[in-house]
Amino acid sequence: MSMNTQGRPSTPGETASRGARKTFTGNRALDMEEPLIFEIGRTEVTGVDLAPPKPVKTRLGAMARTAPIDLPGLTEPEAMRHYVRLSRNNYAIDAGLYPLGSCTMKHNPRLNEKMARLPGFGDVHPLQPQATCQGALELIHELGRWLCELTGMASVAMSPRAGAHGELAGMMAIKAAIAAKGEAATRTVALVPDSAHGTNPATAALIGFSVKPVPAAEDGTVRAEAVKAALGPDVAAIMLTNPNTCGLFEPQIVEIAAAVREAGAYFYCDGANFNAIVGKTKPGDLGVDAMHINLHKTFSTPHGGGGPGAGPVVLSKRLAPFAPVPFVRKEGERFALVEHAEGAQSLGRVAAFHGQMGMFVRAFAYMLSHGADGMRQASEDAVLSANYIRASLVDLMSAPFGDRPCMHEALFDDSWLKGAGVTTLDFAKAMIDEGYHPMTMYFPLVAHGAMLIEPTESESKASLDLFIATLRDLAMSARRGETERFAGAPYHAPRRRLDETRAAREPVLKWTKPAPRPQARE
Ligand SMILES: *Cc1c(COP(=O)(O)O)cnc(C)c1O
Repeated sequence: MSMNTQGRPSTPGETASRGARKTFTGNRALDMEEPLIFEIGRTEVTGVDLAPPKPVKTRLGAMARTAPIDLPGLTEPEAMRHYVRLSRNNYAIDAGLYPLGSCTMKHNPRLNEKMARLPGFGDVHPLQPQATCQGALELIHELGRWLCELTGMASVAMSPRAGAHGELAGMMAIKAAIAAKGEAATRTVALVPDSAHGTNPATAALIGFSVKPVPAAEDGTVRAEAVKAALGPDVAAIMLTNPNTCGLFEPQIVEIAAAVREAGAYFYCDGANFNAIVGKTKPGDLGVDAMHINLHKTFSTPHGGGGPGAGPVVLSKRLAPFAPVPFVRKEGERFALVEHAEGAQSLGRVAAFHGQMGMFVRAFAYMLSHGADGMRQASEDAVLSANYIRASLVDLMSAPFGDRPCMHEALFDDSWLKGAGVTTLDFAKAMIDEGYHPMTMYFPLVAHGAMLIEPTESESKASLDLFIATLRDLAMSARRGETERFAGAPYHAPRRRLDETRAAREPVLKWTKPAPRPQARE
């Protein structure tokens, strides 16, 4: 495979398996090759026509730019085509099953989009007078009330912009509570189990806690014994994910919560996997002090590729006074946005404004259209789908905790691939050729070569059956030693597998203009 100056494979059409003869353009029907915007854009072309600026007295002196700025310009139809063509290389939940574990990639009902685009929500401005956006404030208030109801918690902060941001807000509330008790100097440790999502130790470290790992037991869960052994007067909090990232409900969570509380510490629960237990279990009943909710996972909204996200954090009674501002309060028939903490205890502000309005609307529309029974059923179906996959593959693929039911996701490891000459990465790349986005790989770290599959409740039985049949076909192929199917995969994607070693050793960090393409002769 040859590379262009950017280190990208330069001849995407070369793969033998594509079979068809080369085309003049390099396109293959709807599969169109699209260069970078810098390769097709021209500075002199823009979609707008502005009057030339009036001359100004410049004070830049020798620092004034003399060379052209070289920003790419496109006409409107060119811009449209550029992004539409790129978008067709995207894999999306709207295109097929998206089995990323720990990510809950579920269908986003189109009704949500319609609601989010209503002008009163879609065009709301964070600085507009409160009297003019009472509906938006009411929705934030109502959504918060539902989140408290579903989690059994006392209070909620709506402003965090993502799960990790909610974690930060929750841990800051814990830190503020500890400081209020005069224990800031002594309680400096956060306990984080081995199987935790990377954001947990990162959050704890970011706000100045030192992270102490808690080992997971053989069966993939955290034992109260192990937590008790790690607790002491120096411990501020434990950060525990439930259901955990192995797809298991923590069976000793109540005992762990009691031990944490008894030791004078706080229980932060990572609620990213809430989709497995909505309507079944209330984290507040389990003894949780703070938990973020990834609205974009549990209550729909398409996510991935960096956004959007919303990570409200629910708080127990003892943490509620430390919640961040702003928040919405109902005063008679009106809704007021409280911008400044009234007591001295609020931890302050974690974001400029009140949160992601569009996501609040989508989440609320999702809740209203499902109702309490519908949300419970979504959780049950998500768990059923994951168990169907686990039970249908466990004879071929090794599952470290596969001898018992899982929650929302099924975890496999790579011990079944031993000696086959195929790795977890190869297996995932071969899934791309079959038209599937790979599952989560190499996470959680407690399983070697992990493959974590979360189908969610969105898939029909037919869709799950085809997915299972595909993975079985791949698995049998790997077991038969058909390494070629895996080693070079993906063969059919717009881009082939990167040479990751070369990319790490000789990274191309700067775009340089390629030489002009030779013109075809008459
Ligand atoms: C997704 C996830 C997070 C982080 O959430 P973001 O919204 O991506 O910031 C944290 N913990 C777990 C277990 C997750 O799955």
